[in-house]
Amino acid sequence: MNTRKQAQHKSAPVLQVQNLFKHYTGKNGNRLIAVNDVSFSIDKGEVLGIVGESGCGKSTLGRTVLRLVEATSGKIAYSGQDLATLKGAELKTLRKDAQIVFQDPFGALNPQHTVSRVIAEPLLVHKLGNRKQRLSRVAELLELVGMPTDAGKKYPHEFSGGQRQRIAIARALASKPTFLVCDEAVSALDVSVQSQILNLLMDLRQQLNLAMMFISHDLSVIRHISDRVAVMYLGKFVECAETEQLMNNPMHPYTQALLSAVPHPLAKQQSRIILHGEQPDALNPPTGCVFHTRCHKRNETIDSQCVATVPALQKYTDGHQVACHLHVQSTEQFDL
Ligand code: SF4
Repeated sequence: MNTRKQAQHKSAPVLQVQNLFKHYTGKNGNRLIAVNDVSFSIDKGEVLGIVGESGCGKSTLGRTVLRLVEATSGKIAYSGQDLATLKGAELKTLRKDAQIVFQDPFGALNPQHTVSRVIAEPLLVHKLGNRKQRLSRVAELLELVGMPTDAGKKYPHEFSGGQRQRIAIARALASKPTFLVCDEAVSALDVSVQSQILNLLMDLRQQLNLAMMFISHDLSVIRHISDRVAVMYLGKFVECAETEQLMNNPMHPYTQALLSAVPHPLAKQQSRIILHGEQPDALNPPTGCVFHTRCHKRNETIDSQCVATVPALQKYTDGHQVACHLHVQSTEQFDL
């Protein structure tokens, strides 16, 4: 059994999301559906990778589940507690338990504060510990993320991009969260530094039994860290499966196209599938299947269905879920 599976504990989900929608209204009154009827759950110690092209809604999803932006509708629950009902102290406690690491470590760190002050920020906000305890926690966190303890006296600009991301991770872990959203957390880094940060996150997840939502446009990055992967297209989950299952048996044409561009032994080798055209305008999404304007698998038999009917995300063997009329069978629809 691999380390991912060892770390995965079957228990009540840390996060449950049901029928989540996030709409924005444009200047001319047009409605942009950034997150479109998304449902999933993440168990303690589990990493769910969210992959899709830029603009597909994955970052909005990450921010919405943390209530950094308000959902339009749907249910978000942490350890069974409905996020929408939390206010004041309860909401603050949740913010302590659920943290985010952003793509740009420099922009996310206050350049006027020392690294110690930056890392201690969540402890100050949540009034955790006295000064001595906070300093001790900062030293512990610097060690945890592989930084020298004297780094605390310096300023963020004195460090490389990879080191700054380690500092951002230390800050996210300061309040001992149980859930972490990593939003393109390695995308701005060089490839060699990316793998260091990915290894660090995998170690931390193992040590701390952290649940994570790991958001990236890069399937080869997602593959390294995720137990399960959800593929997102124009605000919708079009496929979700255990990582190796998805790599070996991609069912959705969009996933097949993404995978065909990733040379890796885990991925089923096939010739490159070139997606024609751009991702459609989210303000004016296609009818029926949102992928139908670019799909290479549409055929005469199902064409009218693809254009007219939204395919439901359906469950197949081993929890593999896919939303495509090619795979219609009498299966149960996804249910939490
Ligand atoms: Fe392609 Fe039709 Fe499946 Fe959509 S439902 S992915 S258009 S085959």
